[in-house]
Amino acid sequence: MTIDASGPWWRGTEARDLLAYLEAFASERQSRSIDAFRVAICPCGSKAFLLEGDPAEQAVRRTCLNCGTEHLILDCEERWEEATPVRCRCVECACEVHELAVGYTFDKKGEVARVYAGVRCVNCGTMGCFANWAIDQMPSKHLLDLA
Ligand SMILES: [Zn+2]
Ligand SMILES: [Zn+2]
Repeated sequence: MTIDASGPWWRGTEARDLLAYLEAFASERQSRSIDAFRVAICPCGSKAFLLEGDPAEQAVRRTCLNCGTEHLILDCEERWEEATPVRCRCVECACEVHELAVGYTFDKKGEVARVYAGVRCVNCGTMGCFANWAIDQMPSKHLLDLA
């Protein structure tokens, strides 16, 4: 893993680099550290996705570039119906294909408090946080399997 944080946007060489990026993002914005981290992998084994999402409705859908399987991440099916999704596009090169990883923060009881959908452009490596939102459902640990 190699992270280049010298430019306006951080770049990484693999999806796992999003952990360091999301750590910095969460600590800057919410003074939180990431307690759990999951890289999204399609059942077919691919990590390359087209992503659509609506940060206001707290809903993100990933579509596997290899096999076309769609997955609404983090239990957002209900909110997806209200969503006005936009396609995730790299700020640097406008590429629409990304790797996705979710960072989770936990509250004192160990329930998930907030989620961060981190994305890495497969073309140029630029990393970003596509959406992040608070979780108020319990139990919440199943969200760890729904990146
Ligand atoms: Zn697939
Ligand atoms: Zn890019």
